[in-house]
Amino acid sequence: MKQSQAKAMIDDESLIDAGPLLDKEPFLDKEPLIDNEHWLNVAQRCPSPNFNHRPEDEISLLVIHNISLPPKQYGGPFVQDFFCNRLDIKADPYFAEIAHLQVSSHLFIRRDGTIIQFVPFNQRAWHAGLSHYSGRDNCNDFSIGIEMEGCDDEAYTDFQYASLQQVTALLMQAYPDISTDRITGHEFISPKRKTDPGRVFKWQRLFTGLKC
Ligand SMILES: [Zn+2]
Repeated sequence: MKQSQAKAMIDDESLIDAGPLLDKEPFLDKEPLIDNEHWLNVAQRCPSPNFNHRPEDEISLLVIHNISLPPKQYGGPFVQDFFCNRLDIKADPYFAEIAHLQVSSHLFIRRDGTIIQFVPFNQRAWHAGLSHYSGRDNCNDFSIGIEMEGCDDEAYTDFQYASLQQVTALLMQAYPDISTDRITGHEFISPKRKTDPGRVFKWQRLFTGLKC
């Protein structure tokens, strides 16, 4: 990186706000696409047993979440372990509270923008729980769930927004019933139980990126 570029980045408050910069770009080596088996080719695969069939084969909603394990600690293997029912309860005192839960999401976007996929998009992942959107319950039946590695009060990184924008555009193309007005947060479909992705999530930034 040239010095002038480095200075420009440091001068950009949104980058400072987003936490440490990492020397990685999402999707660097290949064109992202969703294959015939409903897997994202640029995602690392970590198949979870926590899924079942969608009752009506409908995919018409995108739900954004956050998760970090232990809470507010990033970069470890524990979210993958949690979604694959192999969380070691000796690794952190908090894990005993959640290890019995059987949950999953379709995608997990790490702080460096890398993406992990747990469940093919045509299957029903278990991310939303009790939920309600536009007159219907059980949003897992018809939604795709994306977890951002993070918490409600710490800014998501630029790498995460870049990956989320790219993957959202791709999902809208592959599953056209997901329109921009059918992208929501867990906090809005389970308002009394959930607060993610939280007040720091920049919805306008996601939507602005989609128009490009
Ligand atoms: Zn959530």
